[in-house]
Amino acid sequence: MKRILIVGAGFAGASYARTLADSGYLVDVIDARSHIGGNAFDFVDENGLRRHRYGPHLFHTSNERVVTWLKRFGTWSEYRHKVRALTQDGNHVPLPINLDTLNLFFGLELGNEAEVEAYFSRISIANDAPGNAAEYLYARLGTELTDVFFRRYTKKMWDLDLEDMSPDVVKRIPIRYDRNDLYFPNDTFQLLPRDGYTAIFENILSHENIRVRLETPFEKSMEAEYVHVFNSMPIDEYFDFVDGELPYRSIRFHHRTDSRKVTHDWSVTNFTDTGPRTRETAWHLLPHHLVEDTGRYTYTSEEPCDYRDNNRERYYPVKTADGRFDAVYSRYKERAQKLDNVTFIGRCGTYQYLDMDQVINQSLMGCERWLALHG
Ligand SMILES: Cc1cc2nc3c(=O)[nH]c(=O)nc-3n(C[C@H](O)[C@H](O)[C@H](O)COP(=O)(O)OP(=O)(O)OC[C@H]3O[C@@H](n4cnc5c(N)ncnc54)[C@H](O)[C@@H]3O)c2cc1C
Repeated sequence: MKRILIVGAGFAGASYARTLADSGYLVDVIDARSHIGGNAFDFVDENGLRRHRYGPHLFHTSNERVVTWLKRFGTWSEYRHKVRALTQDGNHVPLPINLDTLNLFFGLELGNEAEVEAYFSRISIANDAPGNAAEYLYARLGTELTDVFFRRYTKKMWDLDLEDMSPDVVKRIPIRYDRNDLYFPNDTFQLLPRDGYTAIFENILSHENIRVRLETPFEKSMEAEYVHVFNSMPIDEYFDFVDGELPYRSIRFHHRTDSRKVTHDWSVTNFTDTGPRTRETAWHLLPHHLVEDTGRYTYTSEEPCDYRDNNRERYYPVKTADGRFDAVYSRYKERAQKLDNVTFIGRCGTYQYLDMDQVINQSLMGCERWLALHG
């Protein structure tokens, strides 16, 4: 049987591994970490809460094929994610901004979409050709909402001012004129795995043709033993950074235990203050996450930082308006295309921010294309 090496046991690697194993290949999966699941890894902590080690992972998609594939490996429950922002006066207001956000934030009594539209046109600063993200948002929302809900978040998350970002980056931010307070209103499927993501990974990788080795960093000498390598490691690291480093933002997670069990209907609270933290997750408010009620509840807040200040934990590729890091990535991609027996996959292999459904979709399709060529 032909042997394949997969580097990384996240969604990219696991999707490739299972598809290849189902097609009769012998697959070795290695991961430098001590667990499978990549950044979607979860576990039950000392307080009895299922916690996602690398931040809350909410699965949402309209891609039916990806959902059908995932349902082969476990039971998924419907979940409608909601987020609220804590404002300086102690209110929790819906995010994305909607009619209720305006009423709570400005103390208004707007009753319908036409009144919201009229209010926005009063507070916005007309600008037909916004040159940066700040000007674009001022033209839609005015200064106060922009500064409280977007300027501070952007500074914390990306260490950037809105003036230094392209309008394109914020054009996709939804703003609602009605009372809809769902975080992902347009996705057909919003699901969470009943027994956690790690159990899904265990089932994906549970196949007689798949062997998993953890705490095993990739070494180039491994390639000789395999007909092909699908590699989800950072592409710049593979090439010893010859064309320069591809930067990422990272997150430091802070956990606290509290005997207070909040009971509201949103699990994530965003902070609008000028402190370093962006948001806090109350794990017990996600379905199937209160595994054992110990009377102690874990709350996790997030502090973004440069990945070099967090043990090189790479989370979000840095995208600048001038595209300079995309240009660096293109040089690595050219090098990669010259390798016959290696394909770079996933978030760090292709230097893109990808949601889980996108990674799975790309991987299933990429693997099928490869199989069509190689049998
Ligand atoms: C804070 C945060 C929140 C997120 N929230 C959501 C969300 O709500 N919804 C959503 O859909 N997506 C979310 N995502 C995105 C999701 O994590 C990714 O889509 C997914 O993890 C990508 O899978 P991957 O396999 O490409 O990468 P990863 O999950 O990062 O897996 C790559 C694996 O490769 C291993 N590896 C790297 N280098 C080597 C090496 N040299 N040798 C051996 N192994 C190596 C790593 O240890 C890692 O386990 C979030 C991401 C982050 C960071």
